[in-house]
Amino acid sequence: MLIDTHCHLVSHKYSREERGAIMARAAAAGVGRIVSLATCWENVEENLRLADEFETVRVCLGIHPCDVHQEPDDVVERLRVYGDDPRVCGVGETGLDYYHPAPEGWAEEDFRNRQRWMLEQHFSWAAASGLGVVVHTRDREGTTSFEDALEIYGRYALRVKAMFHCFIGSPENAQRIIDLGGIMSFGGVATFKNAKNVLDVVASLPRGTFTLETDAPYLAPVPFRGQRNEPAFVKNVADCIAAARGESAAELYDHTAHAAAGFFRW
Ligand SMILES: [Zn+2]
Ligand SMILES: [Zn+2]
Repeated sequence: MLIDTHCHLVSHKYSREERGAIMARAAAAGVGRIVSLATCWENVEENLRLADEFETVRVCLGIHPCDVHQEPDDVVERLRVYGDDPRVCGVGETGLDYYHPAPEGWAEEDFRNRQRWMLEQHFSWAAASGLGVVVHTRDREGTTSFEDALEIYGRYALRVKAMFHCFIGSPENAQRIIDLGGIMSFGGVATFKNAKNVLDVVASLPRGTFTLETDAPYLAPVPFRGQRNEPAFVKNVADCIAAARGESAAELYDHTAHAAAGFFRW
């Protein structure tokens, strides 16, 4: 079974009316489960309703690092009430984004401090609830956000599993995640001709250390690059990665589905 472990179905890029068609295309492509992640308090309920409406959908709840300035200090505290909800399979999307400039009125360092503080809150909730944490990191250059996130994860790694989503780092950094007991997920970037290093990394990883994602509506894989992404396109990600690994599509679907099931505990 194919699984899209990371997308944002509540995005304004999808209309409510077309959700049924998007789900039908995903099912036709062989996608058996879809994880839709909240990015702010405002889209929590809408994500949960999607899980009611479509039985293939599970939900992660968190505050995206680019949204931390818009939320009250106790927002993760308020998310905790959903920790036992059967529709909720993880904590996220959270993480550190040093790529986008700080919002107006915020000094860069203050914004990053708030992101780190929020990320810790997410890990603390995960440690208490038994859920895994889906982590986003992004830098303009270098790997500072990754280093900072890994340092925070390291303090929780005995109790919490983290998934570094849309992983584009080095083999050494992939190994550091694995050493802490974490996993990665790979999306459309792995299919880009100018990101062959990403495909090389996922081609060499042991089974069980990664899953597949779209990050839809963003980052559509080849041959849809630049267009709006959707969960059905995880098949294009999978087929590209299977070829690079020298595995059959069925083998790749199988072990990545198993890794996803272990992380999200279904
Ligand atoms: Zn992300
Ligand atoms: Zn995302």
